[in-house]
Amino acid sequence: MEAHDIDGQLTEMLLSEEDIHAKLAELARVIEIDYADKNVLLVGVLKGAVMVMADLVRELRIHANMDWMAVSSYGSGTQSSGVVRILKDLDTDVTGRHVLIVEDIIDSGLTLSWLQSNLVTRGAASVEICALLRKPDAAKVAVDVKYLGFDIPNQFVVGYGLDYAEKYRNLRGVGILAPHVYS
Ligand code: 5GP
Ligand code: MG
Ligand code: MG
Repeated sequence: MEAHDIDGQLTEMLLSEEDIHAKLAELARVIEIDYADKNVLLVGVLKGAVMVMADLVRELRIHANMDWMAVSSYGSGTQSSGVVRILKDLDTDVTGRHVLIVEDIIDSGLTLSWLQSNLVTRGAASVEICALLRKPDAAKVAVDVKYLGFDIPNQFVVGYGLDYAEKYRNLRGVGILAPHVYS
């Protein structure tokens, strides 16, 4: 167990920092080729994607611009409703740009599916998705992820940017949060 997991708040470590870095390096090699002549604009979704963005962009050996959005799903309860509100918009005009959305995790897929069409509507030349994690068993809408890190079980995970009540984002790896923490 990691030094951060001092209170046994994770039931299982799914991915170590090394696992994640190796996978991001792999993805970067493909992204470099796909965007070799395209001046890619990486759009990170705050706050969860901060770590993915920081590590992915440093792996890239091509020019890459970075911008950020913060979005929130309307709806009662903890489930994404698919109706998304922009809390912080891009600084960049995406017209004609090749956009690569950088996300931490795809759960229902509703947020990313909304975000992708939103950026297409603004006139981006292309809008692709890079996500570190995906829960295939939680999908409500199909999302076309071009660059995917790992498929994981349908359980609540934290670490490497992912939070529970704003905690655990600073864990170096990704683990399953123990149910006793949130029940
Ligand atoms: P979706 O619209 O795909 O259901 O929602 C995706 C967002 O919900 C993610 O960007 C993330 O912020 C949050 N989320 C979904 N699953 C998890 C999870 O297992 N752990 C954490 N910490 N956040 C999650
Ligand atoms: Mg996210
Ligand atoms: Mg969160």
